[in-house]
Amino acid sequence: QAKAAGGNQVAVYTEDDVAHINRMEDLRRALRSIVPGEQLSLHYQPIYDAAGRLRGLEALLRWQHSQLGNIPPGEFISLAEQSGQIVEIGEWVLSEVCRMIRRVRGKGLDDIIISVNLSPLQITAPGFVETLQCVLALTETSAEWLEFEITESIMIDSSKRTTSVLNALRAMGVRVALDDFGIGYASLTYLRELPLHTLKLDRSFICHITEQHAEAAIVKAMISLVHELGFEVVAEGVETKEQLELLRSWGCDFFQGYLLGKPMQEEALCAPLMQAAL
Ligand code: C2E
Ligand code: MG
Ligand code: MG
Ligand code: MG
Repeated sequence: QAKAAGGNQVAVYTEDDVAHINRMEDLRRALRSIVPGEQLSLHYQPIYDAAGRLRGLEALLRWQHSQLGNIPPGEFISLAEQSGQIVEIGEWVLSEVCRMIRRVRGKGLDDIIISVNLSPLQITAPGFVETLQCVLALTETSAEWLEFEITESIMIDSSKRTTSVLNALRAMGVRVALDDFGIGYASLTYLRELPLHTLKLDRSFICHITEQHAEAAIVKAMISLVHELGFEVVAEGVETKEQLELLRSWGCDFFQGYLLGKPMQEEALCAPLMQAAL
């Protein structure tokens, strides 16, 4: 960000700005030579129902770089979108998730749904549905085991193409969730236009429900709105027992957050995860 100094509009960069710009440049360069199978991995965070039964796991990308260390998705997803590489990375995520499903089934983790985050660019990329069908067939994965998480940003250019891809997913039996619900470009009209199964209430709402009346009122009303529309609702970022109890009393269907489980490596996934002591 250039900061205007005086009336002369001279751009003055602070040390922090320069560090930030350099970091972004390093990340861009590292991204260009990324080898997904070697540097990327997936962690999995559990999602539970009100009785403490495991509904499923959300797959979350991790990037380990030999020089730059661990780079969180919040830092590199948008860069990968800018360079277009998110399409290739997303394909790697998809096939890795499908292979993982085959591995954990039989370890006592049956009948769970794996949630995969999708970038808007992936949805509109040519051949997305065909690629998906191919990966499912090759890995012998059933479409019903998958849920795709999309964000409200896909509605910025709510092209016919986006809607037709989402309809094709629905026809295949893949669930579609709207992620980070409530913080985006919230025109409620798209809720009746998009073929959705699930809405995920953003963590920024959940974190204040126990101390702020307005936040509590909003979340409570969103839960009943979502139910009226016939969708399931997941609360993201549940960190305390008090938040969980409030959300449960309002009829929230599913819960995800550090209280119930952090994102973990595949090796840590085991049968005891199937039931949480709520
Ligand atoms: P998201 O899809 O909303 O994922 C939830 C994020 O919240 C994750 O951050 C998760 O670790 C974090 N989280 C979960 N529970 C709690 C909690 O109780 N407290 C707090 N403070 N945080 C919690 P993460 O893994 O850093 O991912 C950030 C974002 O990056 C994701 O947000 C998603 O938008 C994006 N992302 C991650 N993996 C992928 C991917 O494979 N593809 C795409 N396109 N985007 C991805
Ligand atoms: Mg998500
Ligand atoms: Mg989310
Ligand atoms: Mg979120």
